[in-house]
Amino acid sequence: MTVFLSMVIFIAGMMLGSFFNVCIYRIPRAESIVFPPSHCTSCGTRLKWLDLFPLFSWLFLRGRCRSCKSKISIQYPLVELITGLLYMLLYLKFGFSGSFLTYLILASILIITTAIDIEHQIIPDELVFIGIIAGVVLVLTGLSVHWKDALIGLLVGGGTFLAVALLSEWILKKEGMGGGDIKLMGMIGLFLGWKLTVLSILLSIYAGGLIGGLLLILKIKKRGDAIPYGPFIAVGTIISIFFGNELITWYLQTFLY
Ligand SMILES: [Zn+2]
Repeated sequence: MTVFLSMVIFIAGMMLGSFFNVCIYRIPRAESIVFPPSHCTSCGTRLKWLDLFPLFSWLFLRGRCRSCKSKISIQYPLVELITGLLYMLLYLKFGFSGSFLTYLILASILIITTAIDIEHQIIPDELVFIGIIAGVVLVLTGLSVHWKDALIGLLVGGGTFLAVALLSEWILKKEGMGGGDIKLMGMIGLFLGWKLTVLSILLSIYAGGLIGGLLLILKIKKRGDAIPYGPFIAVGTIISIFFGNELITWYLQTFLY
């Protein structure tokens, strides 16, 4: 039964991922996410049902539009696959529970914001706003963490990054942390509660240092180039969701006892 449900959730996740791709393309361009129906962004040909299978359509068409043969970004199948996998893993870890629903919504918002941040270096306010509304509803219905924990999470998440932004502006005289990152981290804190939020922040700093260093060594980026920080926040948060409690227990046992 678990195997069957996992597959259903995986496929449902991939189909939602296909909708997320529409959001990722249209939200930064201020287009409607429901109208017009999916079409090739090069030639405008409306996609038929055969072109709309998550992942498989892209593979069968070898990443090209059926009509005009222009390339379709690998972002499309990747977002579908990542969404399907994350949904399935969340189900396997949390079963059908409040945590499952909470993290499903958080992961969905993170997938969309990360892809937009990588392409446009922005985190749209409307996505953070939708996340805050959803987070508040989850807290009020008792499906997520206690409201005090959520509130402290919000303040710790947003506050830490705000402090980093103010300090780097004051000491380094440059923008170290964008407003979008501050708001996003606050929103995440609302979902995670304060402990996992602190861990997510630390993990995002490690991930940023590691990947940023690699990009410099491999000369993909130069010193002083802007690197979007949203993806590191997302990676830190996803690790916290899956391994946070184990990591915190391990850390406390190793260093404090
Ligand atoms: Zn086309």
